[in-house]
Amino acid sequence: MSIADVVEVSRRYGSDEDWVLAGGGNTSYKDDETLYVKASGFPLATIGPEGFARMDRRALQKIWSVTYPADTAVREEAALADLMNARCQGETKRPSVETLMHELFPYPLVVHTHPAFVNGLTCAADGERAARRLFGTRLLWVPAIEPGYVLASHMHKAAQDHAERHGVFPKLAMLENHGLVIAGSGRSEVDALHREVKRVVGKALKREPDLSPLETDEAARDRWRAAIEMSFDHDVAVEFHSDPELLRRLASAADFAPLNGVFSPDHIVYAGSRPVYVTGTPASPVSALTSLLAAYRKDHGSDPRIIAVGGLGVCAVAESASAASTALSLFLDEVKIAAYAESFGGARHLEPRLVRFIESWEVERYRRKISQGGNDS
Ligand SMILES: [Zn+2]
Repeated sequence: MSIADVVEVSRRYGSDEDWVLAGGGNTSYKDDETLYVKASGFPLATIGPEGFARMDRRALQKIWSVTYPADTAVREEAALADLMNARCQGETKRPSVETLMHELFPYPLVVHTHPAFVNGLTCAADGERAARRLFGTRLLWVPAIEPGYVLASHMHKAAQDHAERHGVFPKLAMLENHGLVIAGSGRSEVDALHREVKRVVGKALKREPDLSPLETDEAARDRWRAAIEMSFDHDVAVEFHSDPELLRRLASAADFAPLNGVFSPDHIVYAGSRPVYVTGTPASPVSALTSLLAAYRKDHGSDPRIIAVGGLGVCAVAESASAASTALSLFLDEVKIAAYAESFGGARHLEPRLVRFIESWEVERYRRKISQGGNDS
Protein backbone atom coordinates (compact mmCIF):
# COMPACT_ATOMS: atom_id res chain seq x y z
CA MET A 1 0.00 0.00 0.00
CA SER A 2 1.20 3.46 -0.90
CA ILE A 3 -0.23 6.82 -1.86
CA ALA A 4 -0.27 5.58 -5.49
CA ASP A 5 -2.82 2.91 -4.50
CA VAL A 6 -5.24 5.39 -2.95
CA VAL A 7 -4.86 7.66 -5.99
CA GLU A 8 -5.76 4.78 -8.32
CA VAL A 9 -8.74 3.70 -6.19
CA SER A 10 -9.98 7.29 -5.84
CA ARG A 11 -9.90 7.94 -9.58
CA ARG A 12 -11.62 4.67 -10.38
CA TYR A 13 -14.55 5.07 -7.94
CA GLY A 14 -14.60 8.85 -8.45
CA SER A 15 -15.20 8.53 -12.19
CA ASP A 16 -17.89 5.83 -11.88
CA GLU A 17 -21.36 7.38 -11.47
CA ASP A 18 -22.62 4.23 -9.77
CA TRP A 19 -20.45 5.24 -6.80
CA VAL A 20 -19.75 8.98 -6.91
CA LEU A 21 -21.58 12.06 -8.23
CA ALA A 22 -20.28 15.64 -8.39
CA GLY A 23 -17.73 16.38 -5.67
CA GLY A 24 -19.06 13.62 -3.42
CA GLY A 25 -17.12 10.96 -1.61
CA ASN A 26 -13.68 10.86 -0.08
CA THR A 27 -10.81 8.44 0.40
CA SER A 28 -7.76 8.00 2.57
CA TYR A 29 -4.62 6.01 3.13
CA LYS A 30 -2.80 5.73 6.44
CA ASP A 31 0.46 4.44 7.84
CA ASP A 32 1.37 4.37 11.52
CA GLU A 33 1.99 8.11 11.82
CA THR A 34 0.21 9.84 8.96
CA LEU A 35 -3.28 9.89 7.50
CA TYR A 36 -3.43 11.05 3.87
CA VAL A 37 -7.02 12.17 3.36
CA LYS A 38 -8.70 13.78 0.36
CA ALA A 39 -8.49 17.55 0.63
CA SER A 40 -11.32 19.96 -0.22
CA GLY A 41 -11.31 21.16 -3.80
CA PHE A 42 -9.88 17.98 -5.36
CA PRO A 43 -12.58 15.83 -7.03
CA LEU A 44 -11.86 12.11 -6.68
CA ALA A 45 -12.10 11.47 -10.43
CA THR A 46 -8.98 13.52 -11.20
CA ILE A 47 -7.15 13.54 -7.87
CA GLY A 48 -3.38 13.04 -7.69
CA PRO A 49 -1.03 12.61 -4.74
CA GLU A 50 -1.09 16.40 -4.26
CA GLY A 51 -4.86 16.23 -3.54
CA PHE A 52 -4.38 14.51 -0.19
CA ALA A 53 -3.91 16.44 3.05
CA ARG A 54 -1.30 15.01 5.41
CA MET A 55 -2.64 14.63 8.94
CA ASP A 56 -0.80 13.78 12.16
CA ARG A 57 -2.64 10.70 13.45
CA ARG A 58 -1.59 11.24 17.06
CA ALA A 59 -3.07 14.74 17.01
CA LEU A 60 -6.28 13.39 15.41
CA GLN A 61 -6.62 10.68 18.05
CA LYS A 62 -6.41 13.28 20.81
CA ILE A 63 -9.67 14.75 19.48
CA TRP A 64 -11.57 11.64 20.66
CA SER A 65 -11.02 12.54 24.28
CA VAL A 66 -11.79 16.27 24.03
CA THR A 67 -15.03 17.45 25.66
CA TYR A 68 -16.43 20.15 23.42
CA PRO A 69 -18.93 22.87 24.47
CA ALA A 70 -22.61 21.88 24.16
CA ASP A 71 -23.47 24.86 21.94
CA THR A 72 -23.51 23.59 18.35
CA ALA A 73 -21.83 26.55 16.70
CA VAL A 74 -19.10 26.80 19.35
CA ARG A 75 -18.52 23.04 19.26
CA GLU A 76 -18.24 22.92 15.46
CA GLU A 77 -15.82 25.83 15.42
CA ALA A 78 -13.63 24.27 18.11
CA ALA A 79 -13.67 20.82 16.48
CA LEU A 80 -12.76 22.36 13.13
CA ALA A 81 -9.88 24.29 14.70
CA ASP A 82 -8.55 21.06 16.27
CA LEU A 83 -8.87 19.30 12.91
CA MET A 84 -6.92 22.04 11.14
CA ASN A 85 -4.29 21.95 13.89
CA ALA A 86 -3.88 18.21 13.39
CA ARG A 87 -2.37 18.81 9.97
CA CYS A 88 1.25 17.78 9.56
CA GLN A 89 3.81 20.53 9.62
CA GLY A 90 3.77 22.50 6.38
CA GLU A 91 0.39 21.11 5.25
CA THR A 92 -1.84 23.96 4.04
CA LYS A 93 -4.70 22.13 2.31
CA ARG A 94 -8.10 21.83 3.95
CA PRO A 95 -8.80 18.18 4.87
CA SER A 96 -12.21 16.63 4.11
CA VAL A 97 -14.90 17.38 6.72
CA GLU A 98 -15.12 13.61 7.07
CA THR A 99 -11.44 13.21 8.06
CA LEU A 100 -12.12 11.85 11.55
CA MET A 101 -14.33 9.14 10.09
CA HIS A 102 -11.31 7.97 8.07
CA GLU A 103 -9.01 8.05 11.07
CA LEU A 104 -11.23 5.80 13.18
CA PHE A 105 -10.81 2.74 10.93
CA PRO A 106 -7.62 0.84 11.89
CA TYR A 107 -7.11 -0.13 8.24
CA PRO A 108 -4.76 1.44 5.66
CA LEU A 109 -7.35 2.15 2.95
CA VAL A 110 -10.78 3.77 3.44
CA VAL A 111 -13.29 4.63 0.69
CA HIS A 112 -16.43 6.64 1.49
CA THR A 113 -19.11 7.06 -1.17
CA HIS A 114 -22.82 7.93 -1.48
CA PRO A 115 -24.10 5.38 -4.05
CA ALA A 116 -27.81 5.52 -4.89
CA PHE A 117 -28.35 1.77 -4.56
CA VAL A 118 -26.86 1.76 -1.04
CA ASN A 119 -28.81 4.88 -0.13
CA GLY A 120 -31.93 3.00 -1.24
CA LEU A 121 -31.27 1.08 1.98
CA THR A 122 -29.96 3.88 4.17
CA CYS A 123 -32.90 6.14 3.24
CA ALA A 124 -35.64 3.53 3.68
CA ALA A 125 -38.13 2.92 6.48
CA ASP A 126 -36.99 -0.67 6.85
CA GLY A 127 -33.41 -0.13 5.68
CA GLU A 128 -31.61 -1.06 8.88
CA ARG A 129 -33.37 -4.40 9.23
CA ALA A 130 -32.82 -5.21 5.55
CA ALA A 131 -29.13 -4.24 5.70
CA ARG A 132 -28.56 -6.41 8.78
CA ARG A 133 -30.30 -9.30 7.08
CA LEU A 134 -28.10 -8.88 3.98
CA PHE A 135 -24.73 -8.33 5.69
CA GLY A 136 -25.12 -9.76 9.19
CA THR A 137 -22.67 -8.84 11.92
CA ARG A 138 -20.05 -7.63 9.45
CA LEU A 139 -22.08 -4.46 9.06
CA LEU A 140 -21.82 -1.38 11.25
CA TRP A 141 -25.10 0.53 10.89
CA VAL A 142 -24.83 4.19 11.92
CA PRO A 143 -28.03 6.12 12.70
CA ALA A 144 -28.51 9.56 11.12
CA ILE A 145 -26.68 12.19 13.15
CA GLU A 146 -25.02 15.58 12.61
CA PRO A 147 -22.18 15.10 10.09
CA GLY A 148 -18.58 15.99 10.86
CA TYR A 149 -17.29 15.71 14.42
CA VAL A 150 -20.49 14.33 16.04
CA LEU A 151 -20.89 11.59 13.43
CA ALA A 152 -17.23 10.54 13.65
CA SER A 153 -17.25 10.53 17.44
CA HIS A 154 -20.42 8.44 17.59
CA MET A 155 -19.09 6.08 14.94
CA HIS A 156 -15.77 5.72 16.75
CA LYS A 157 -17.52 4.44 19.89
CA ALA A 158 -20.01 2.28 17.98
CA ALA A 159 -17.24 0.65 15.91
CA GLN A 160 -15.21 -0.11 19.04
CA ASP A 161 -18.25 -1.69 20.72
CA HIS A 162 -18.85 -3.68 17.54
CA ALA A 163 -15.23 -4.88 17.56
CA GLU A 164 -15.51 -6.00 21.20
CA ARG A 165 -18.76 -7.82 20.58
CA HIS A 166 -17.82 -9.51 17.32
CA GLY A 167 -14.07 -9.84 17.66
CA VAL A 168 -13.20 -7.83 14.54
CA PHE A 169 -13.26 -4.12 13.78
CA PRO A 170 -15.89 -3.52 11.05
CA LYS A 171 -14.78 -2.98 7.45
CA LEU A 172 -18.26 -2.16 6.16
CA ALA A 173 -20.42 0.67 7.48
CA MET A 174 -23.71 2.07 6.24
CA LEU A 175 -24.62 5.55 7.39
CA GLU A 176 -28.34 6.23 7.62
CA ASN A 177 -29.42 9.00 5.24
CA HIS A 178 -25.84 9.40 4.07
CA GLY A 179 -23.85 6.59 2.44
CA LEU A 180 -21.27 3.83 2.60
CA VAL A 181 -17.81 3.35 4.10
CA ILE A 182 -15.57 0.45 3.12
CA ALA A 183 -12.15 -0.11 4.69
CA GLY A 184 -9.47 -2.72 4.23
CA SER A 185 -5.84 -3.64 4.07
CA GLY A 186 -5.47 -2.71 0.40
CA ARG A 187 -7.02 -2.37 -3.03
CA SER A 188 -8.02 -6.00 -3.57
CA GLU A 189 -9.87 -6.29 -0.26
CA VAL A 190 -11.63 -2.96 -0.69
CA ASP A 191 -12.58 -3.73 -4.31
CA ALA A 192 -13.94 -7.15 -3.35
CA LEU A 193 -16.16 -5.60 -0.66
CA HIS A 194 -17.48 -2.98 -3.08
CA ARG A 195 -18.30 -5.70 -5.61
CA GLU A 196 -20.06 -7.73 -2.94
CA VAL A 197 -22.14 -4.78 -1.72
CA LYS A 198 -23.20 -4.01 -5.28
CA ARG A 199 -24.13 -7.61 -6.02
CA VAL A 200 -25.98 -8.26 -2.74
CA VAL A 201 -27.92 -4.98 -2.63
CA GLY A 202 -28.55 -5.16 -6.38
CA LYS A 203 -30.21 -8.55 -5.97
CA ALA A 204 -32.51 -7.20 -3.24
CA LEU A 205 -33.81 -4.32 -5.40
CA LYS A 206 -37.24 -4.95 -6.87
CA ARG A 207 -37.10 -2.47 -9.72
CA GLU A 208 -34.84 -0.13 -11.68
CA PRO A 209 -36.40 3.29 -12.44
CA ASP A 210 -36.54 4.41 -16.08
CA LEU A 211 -34.76 7.77 -16.17
CA SER A 212 -34.29 7.96 -19.94
CA PRO A 213 -34.97 11.55 -21.05
CA LEU A 214 -38.39 12.29 -22.54
CA GLU A 215 -39.34 15.16 -24.82
CA THR A 216 -42.35 16.87 -23.27
CA ASP A 217 -44.44 19.85 -24.45
CA GLU A 218 -41.86 22.40 -25.61
CA ALA A 219 -44.14 25.45 -25.36
CA ALA A 220 -45.05 24.59 -21.76
CA ARG A 221 -41.36 24.11 -20.97
CA ASP A 222 -40.49 27.54 -22.38
CA ARG A 223 -43.33 29.13 -20.40
CA TRP A 224 -41.99 27.67 -17.15
CA ARG A 225 -38.40 28.59 -17.97
CA ALA A 226 -39.46 32.21 -18.55
CA ALA A 227 -41.56 32.22 -15.36
CA ILE A 228 -38.62 30.88 -13.33
CA GLU A 229 -36.22 33.44 -14.76
CA MET A 230 -38.67 36.19 -13.78
CA SER A 231 -39.08 34.83 -10.25
CA PHE A 232 -35.43 35.22 -9.28
CA ASP A 233 -33.91 38.63 -8.62
CA HIS A 234 -30.61 37.56 -10.19
CA ASP A 235 -29.56 35.74 -13.38
CA VAL A 236 -30.15 32.01 -13.22
CA ALA A 237 -29.39 29.04 -15.46
CA VAL A 238 -32.28 26.61 -15.91
CA GLU A 239 -31.89 22.99 -17.02
CA PHE A 240 -35.01 21.02 -17.87
CA HIS A 241 -35.49 17.26 -17.60
CA SER A 242 -38.29 14.75 -17.82
CA ASP A 243 -38.47 10.95 -17.87
CA PRO A 244 -41.09 8.19 -17.37
CA GLU A 245 -40.25 7.69 -13.68
CA LEU A 246 -40.54 11.41 -12.94
CA LEU A 247 -43.83 11.83 -14.79
CA ARG A 248 -45.27 9.06 -12.64
CA ARG A 249 -44.02 10.80 -9.46
CA LEU A 250 -45.33 14.16 -10.64
CA ALA A 251 -48.89 12.91 -11.20
CA SER A 252 -50.18 13.97 -7.76
CA ALA A 253 -49.01 15.17 -4.34
CA ALA A 254 -49.38 11.59 -3.05
CA ASP A 255 -47.21 10.22 -5.87
CA PHE A 256 -44.68 12.98 -5.24
CA ALA A 257 -44.48 12.33 -1.46
CA PRO A 258 -41.33 10.11 -1.64
CA LEU A 259 -39.50 13.03 -3.29
CA ASN A 260 -40.99 15.78 -1.14
CA GLY A 261 -38.08 16.01 1.27
CA VAL A 262 -34.34 15.38 1.10
CA PHE A 263 -32.35 12.20 1.59
CA SER A 264 -28.81 13.14 2.61
CA PRO A 265 -26.40 16.00 3.36
CA ASP A 266 -24.93 15.89 -0.15
CA HIS A 267 -28.36 16.31 -1.68
CA ILE A 268 -28.92 19.45 0.40
CA VAL A 269 -25.57 20.90 -0.63
CA TYR A 270 -26.11 20.41 -4.37
CA ALA A 271 -29.86 20.07 -4.99
CA GLY A 272 -31.35 22.13 -2.15
CA SER A 273 -33.26 21.24 1.02
CA ARG A 274 -36.26 19.88 -0.88
CA PRO A 275 -37.79 20.33 -4.34
CA VAL A 276 -40.53 22.90 -4.91
CA TYR A 277 -43.54 21.04 -6.30
CA VAL A 278 -46.12 22.76 -8.50
CA THR A 279 -49.35 20.76 -8.80
CA GLY A 280 -51.77 20.92 -11.71
CA THR A 281 -51.48 23.61 -14.36
CA PRO A 282 -51.73 27.03 -12.70
CA ALA A 283 -53.23 29.82 -14.86
CA SER A 284 -50.24 32.01 -14.03
CA PRO A 285 -46.93 30.15 -13.47
CA VAL A 286 -45.35 33.38 -12.17
CA SER A 287 -47.89 33.91 -9.40
CA ALA A 288 -47.86 30.20 -8.50
CA LEU A 289 -44.07 30.35 -8.24
CA THR A 290 -44.06 33.57 -6.23
CA SER A 291 -45.84 32.05 -3.25
CA LEU A 292 -44.03 28.69 -3.45
CA LEU A 293 -40.60 30.34 -3.65
CA ALA A 294 -41.42 32.72 -0.78
CA ALA A 295 -42.43 29.74 1.39
CA TYR A 296 -39.23 27.87 0.50
CA ARG A 297 -37.02 30.87 1.22
CA LYS A 298 -38.74 31.40 4.56
CA ASP A 299 -38.28 27.73 5.55
CA HIS A 300 -34.71 27.26 4.35
CA GLY A 301 -33.07 30.67 4.05
CA SER A 302 -31.93 30.05 0.47
CA ASP A 303 -33.25 29.64 -3.06
CA PRO A 304 -34.53 26.24 -4.18
CA ARG A 305 -32.53 24.37 -6.82
CA ILE A 306 -35.27 22.07 -8.08
CA ILE A 307 -38.72 23.12 -9.30
CA ALA A 308 -40.92 20.14 -10.21
CA VAL A 309 -43.93 20.82 -12.41
CA GLY A 310 -46.81 18.35 -12.47
CA GLY A 311 -47.32 16.69 -15.88
CA LEU A 312 -44.15 18.22 -17.29
CA GLY A 313 -40.82 17.53 -15.56
CA VAL A 314 -38.25 19.26 -13.39
CA CYS A 315 -36.31 22.48 -13.78
CA ALA A 316 -32.93 22.67 -12.06
CA VAL A 317 -32.11 26.29 -11.25
CA ALA A 318 -28.72 27.66 -10.22
CA GLU A 319 -26.26 30.51 -10.67
CA SER A 320 -24.45 28.74 -13.50
CA ALA A 321 -25.23 26.09 -16.09
CA SER A 322 -22.77 23.68 -14.48
CA ALA A 323 -24.32 24.17 -11.01
CA ALA A 324 -27.80 23.60 -12.49
CA SER A 325 -26.60 20.43 -14.15
CA THR A 326 -25.07 19.18 -10.88
CA ALA A 327 -28.31 20.01 -9.03
CA LEU A 328 -30.24 18.00 -11.61
CA SER A 329 -27.95 14.98 -11.35
CA LEU A 330 -28.22 14.98 -7.54
CA PHE A 331 -32.00 15.31 -7.74
CA LEU A 332 -32.19 12.39 -10.20
CA ASP A 333 -30.06 10.48 -7.71
CA GLU A 334 -32.87 11.12 -5.20
CA VAL A 335 -35.40 9.86 -7.74
CA LYS A 336 -33.37 6.64 -7.96
CA ILE A 337 -33.07 6.36 -4.18
CA ALA A 338 -36.84 6.78 -3.79
CA ALA A 339 -37.41 3.95 -6.30
CA TYR A 340 -34.83 1.66 -4.64
CA ALA A 341 -36.23 2.44 -1.16
CA GLU A 342 -39.54 0.86 -2.26
CA SER A 343 -37.75 -2.48 -1.89
CA PHE A 344 -37.10 -1.74 1.79
CA GLY A 345 -40.37 -0.33 3.15
CA GLY A 346 -40.39 3.01 1.30
CA ALA A 347 -38.52 6.31 1.39
CA ARG A 348 -37.49 7.93 4.64
CA HIS A 349 -36.18 11.49 4.46
CA LEU A 350 -33.57 13.23 6.55
CA GLU A 351 -35.19 14.60 9.75
CA PRO A 352 -35.97 18.35 9.71
CA ARG A 353 -33.64 18.85 12.71
CA LEU A 354 -30.69 17.51 10.68
CA VAL A 355 -31.73 19.42 7.57
CA ARG A 356 -31.56 22.64 9.61
CA PHE A 357 -28.17 21.68 11.05
CA ILE A 358 -26.72 21.13 7.59
CA GLU A 359 -28.28 24.31 6.23
CA SER A 360 -26.61 26.42 8.87
CA TRP A 361 -23.38 24.41 8.88
CA GLU A 362 -23.28 24.56 5.12
CA VAL A 363 -23.41 28.35 5.18
CA GLU A 364 -20.09 28.34 6.97
CA ARG A 365 -18.67 25.63 4.79
CA TYR A 366 -19.87 27.38 1.69
CA ARG A 367 -18.23 30.64 2.66
CA ARG A 368 -14.97 28.84 3.19
CA LYS A 369 -15.34 26.99 -0.09
CA ILE A 370 -15.98 30.17 -2.03
CA SER A 371 -13.01 31.87 -0.47
CA GLN A 372 -10.86 28.88 -1.42
CA GLY A 373 -12.34 28.26 -4.82
CA GLY A 374 -13.00 24.65 -3.81
CA ASN A 375 -16.09 22.76 -4.85
CA ASP A 376 -16.65 19.67 -2.78
CA SER A 377 -16.55 17.70 0.43
ZN1 LIG B 1 -20.29 11.61 3.05
